[in-house]
Amino acid sequence: MVCYNHNFSDADAATLCELARIANNPQHRPYVCLWVTNGVVCNLHFQASEFPDHLRIAHGVVGQDKTPLVCCWFSCSTEMKKESVMRHVNEKHLELRHICPTCHEQFTRAHTMQNHVSRKHSGN
Ligand SMILES: [Zn+2]
Ligand SMILES: [Zn+2]
Ligand SMILES: [Zn+2]
Repeated sequence: MVCYNHNFSDADAATLCELARIANNPQHRPYVCLWVTNGVVCNLHFQASEFPDHLRIAHGVVGQDKTPLVCCWFSCSTEMKKESVMRHVNEKHLELRHICPTCHEQFTRAHTMQNHVSRKHSGN
C-alpha cells in the first residue's frame, strides 16, 4: 500500500531537506560542550535537546539524586547536587558562545572572537 500525502509540495520537501541538512551539519549546531574530562575539553557541537543524553552518555552524569558533583564545565568548578547539573548547565553555560578553536577561550560575540584569533593566533 502506497501512502502519499498530496498536500506535501516540492517546496515543503525542499524545506525539510534544508532543515535536515542544517541539523546534520555540526557547524550549525548552536552549542558547544565545554565539559572537561582529564584536562581535555569535549568541544562537541550539539542541539540543546541533545544535551541531557550527551552529558549522560559522554560524561557519565547520570541520575537525579543528591550526590555532590562538581561541574566540570570549562573554568566553572561550581559544586552542586547531581540533580541540579542539567539546570545549572542550561542556565550558566548554554548561552550562545563563540569559542576560539585554538585556545578555547569563550567570547559572547563573534567579532570579538575573530579579533582575538587575528591578534593571538594569526601566526605572524
Ligand atoms: Zn561533552
Ligand atoms: Zn558549571
Ligand atoms: Zn585563542
